[in-house]
Amino acid sequence: MRSPFSFQGFGRGLYYRNEDFSLNLWRFETDMKKLLIIVAFVAVLGCRGGNEGWIGSEKELIMDGRGKMRVTLVTDEEDLAVLRKPSSEIPSGLVGGTVYRRLAGRMVETVTAEEGVGIAGPQVGVSRRVVAVQRFDKEGEPFEVYPNIRIVATRGEKEAGPEGCLSVPDRRGDVLRWRDIDIAYTSPATLSDTLETVTGFTAVIFQHECDHLDGVIFTDRI
Ligand SMILES: [Zn+2]
Repeated sequence: MRSPFSFQGFGRGLYYRNEDFSLNLWRFETDMKKLLIIVAFVAVLGCRGGNEGWIGSEKELIMDGRGKMRVTLVTDEEDLAVLRKPSSEIPSGLVGGTVYRRLAGRMVETVTAEEGVGIAGPQVGVSRRVVAVQRFDKEGEPFEVYPNIRIVATRGEKEAGPEGCLSVPDRRGDVLRWRDIDIAYTSPATLSDTLETVTGFTAVIFQHECDHLDGVIFTDRI
């Protein structure tokens, strides 16, 4: 009687099938590893605080208009929610792009029109880590814009000084601030992480503006 599977044939078939299976399994494992790496990468980006491209409403706010932007106020409930929300980073690939450049320009126009010395993203309704600061430590005291800014070091002791805020009408008060700090930001020129030491009153402005990016308002520190 002829068996449809001879032992040898079955064995060989199984052997070959096994080999195919092993190969497929190996490919499957490799694909899964690639997928895991992608998932892990996305998760890491997510943990960095929503390092995403511009969302529709941000683009609209920034691009639909020119010049001075409306300044958010603590006295308005919706504005206050924006001022209290921690800001996310701007992907370095977008620094130098059309939307970023328009935002940077309009932030400077806003702070100049309001006769302030600094302004942060949430103060123009954009929850992104970007500030415009008047550099009193540079010749001509220019306004400069710093994307993805953070304070990475402080030195000496804090000193008290009077502060006000464009988002907090009719309120001033003494705040303790460092006079010697290191800032890190994405250089709009090179798109690389840049470190800089700032001292004096300009360092105070940087701290006030960086607070805004963490949802902190100067009155919290009085
Ligand atoms: Zn402020």
